Amino acid sequence: MRLELPGFVDIQVNGFAGVDFNDPESSAEEITRAIDAIHATGVTRLLPTLVTGPLERFARCARTLIDLNLPGVAGLHMEGPYISSLDGPRGAHPRAHVAPASLDDFARRQEAADGRIVLVTLAPEVPGALDLIEHLAGGGIRVAIGHSDATPALVRDAVAAGATLSTHLGNGCAAMLPRHQNVIWEQLATDGMWASVIADGHHLPPSMVKVFARAKPAHRTILVTDAIAAAGCPPGPYRLGEIDIDLAPDGRVSLRGTPFLAGSALSMPEAIGNTVRFTGQELNRVVAMASSIPADYLGIATSSTVTAEWREEESTLRVLEVSGG
Ligand SMILES: [Zn+2]
Repeated sequence: MRLELPGFVDIQVNGFAGVDFNDPESSAEEITRAIDAIHATGVTRLLPTLVTGPLERFARCARTLIDLNLPGVAGLHMEGPYISSLDGPRGAHPRAHVAPASLDDFARRQEAADGRIVLVTLAPEVPGALDLIEHLAGGGIRVAIGHSDATPALVRDAVAAGATLSTHLGNGCAAMLPRHQNVIWEQLATDGMWASVIADGHHLPPSMVKVFARAKPAHRTILVTDAIAAAGCPPGPYRLGEIDIDLAPDGRVSLRGTPFLAGSALSMPEAIGNTVRFTGQELNRVVAMASSIPADYLGIATSSTVTAEWREEESTLRVLEVSGG
């Protein structure tokens, strides 16, 4: 079945097609090539995502991305450094650069990014986090909870301070959690929070994607790829910022020598096909999770039209053409 869909919006992308947005050595040409390759998958608006790292490195990466002035770049997503330092919740973020939340540090990063940081993922339990959430939300910057070991009470405090999104819910938290009082349930049950999910079949089992999409109110589930440089590439060794990662033949991306996932090799059309299969929801509802819902969350419009072929029996979406502005 041939369909015309709104352009997709991806609020969490670390790189693509062999190019790492977190590498200060990535050139303007390489970044443009990666964003063109992302565009060809139907993602016409995105937030390049810069992960935990020192200010100087962040500044160089942000500068290259912003100076390009590409229409598809709807701002930057800053994931870390104000996150949990614990193994597990921290995920693949380098411990050495995890930092307490600080209005001054944020101001320096935002200045380096020319004011283009529009989304910040942080952990509410980090010292200074609640003050920073209030400050960011007051300035119209979206705040997400992620890479966190927060108690349910702290999740509620963060929401009261202005946090509105769960970044890759079900990932970036401890491998073992108390079964009732935990960081996942509390966010899942908070109707005012949007939840982003990585539906690659590695980050979450299909049953969790199904339950999350059902538990969240309509228009509160967002598909993200969390793609890294290895996305759109063959299996092998890659880098995400300063860390070494491997892309396995089954598509799993992990921190070398550990079981920890380190982003994905997912494309948005694959995320959509997987989510239809995992949840049993209608295609148009799932497409909204990858287009109008993240656009509404950011307060932007979708752009362009994606012509795609949907194969119901295989649950696969193939992008044929991306057109219009
Ligand atoms: Zn993450």
